[in-house]
Amino acid sequence: MIEIRELTAGYAAPGERGEPPVISIAAETFSAGKITTVIGKNGSGKSTFLKTLVGLLPYRGSIRCDKRELRTLLPKERAACIGYLPQTLTAPHMDVRTLVAHGCFRRKKMFRSLGESDREQIAAALRIADLAAYGDKLVPALSGGERQRAFLAMLIAQDPAFFLLDEVTSYMDIAHQKATVELVRYLAAAGKGVLMTSHDLALSFTVSDRILVMNEGRMILSGTPEELLEERDTLRRCFGICLGKTNSGNALYAYELQN
Ligand code: ADP
Repeated sequence: MIEIRELTAGYAAPGERGEPPVISIAAETFSAGKITTVIGKNGSGKSTFLKTLVGLLPYRGSIRCDKRELRTLLPKERAACIGYLPQTLTAPHMDVRTLVAHGCFRRKKMFRSLGESDREQIAAALRIADLAAYGDKLVPALSGGERQRAFLAMLIAQDPAFFLLDEVTSYMDIAHQKATVELVRYLAAAGKGVLMTSHDLALSFTVSDRILVMNEGRMILSGTPEELLEERDTLRRCFGICLGKTNSGNALYAYELQN
């Protein structure tokens, strides 16, 4: 479980004068086995929120991972609790298998090489991300969507309790978006917590147990997708469009954009 209380964070050091926090969140709780998606306009603070939860930004208030304050955790303890897929991915000069192997390091003692079970875990992660044939490919030679899947495979090998996914499907083709939706459901069914951001409202509403709507650094609405459908006016004000349930049984997603 991740519990947040009175959280403020931004890009200046806490207390630095003249810089208001970018995000300000009174209280949120994220549970194991649940999928939560944060939606909101560009610049509303979604990425900043995820960066804060993974310890990349200074913060005030409290972020507790399984009852322990995030800032007190050692890097390997943090990696056991939270895995993070950023929106902008670097392209390290290594092959995909080596990248995915980095996910195993949180379980290794210093200077210990990978063992048989690590290799099995890496192979399974590559398979799950549909990259079994890509192990020897260099990361910089991958397309944007393939790169997202390679980093996702690294997270699967890391096997954290919570997956924080920032716009995970943004570069993916529709088949891999669908596969990622299935993967996210599989992770939640296996007891993992998933916290995502997404611009794809239909996808977000279809896959999530809970939606958080962020505006100017604050959570202005939260609820199940069904509950949020009742908040049409706020959704329209935020996004300029609304959502409804699809009538077609063959539709890819259970929700669709509406005027
Ligand atoms: P979103 O993910 O919802 O598009 P962000 O969290 O990226 O929003 O941005 C929220 C605010 O924080 C924006 O005003 C943005 O300009 C600012 N911001 C984002 N990254 C940085 C940074 N590295 N340094 C300073 N300000 C930043």
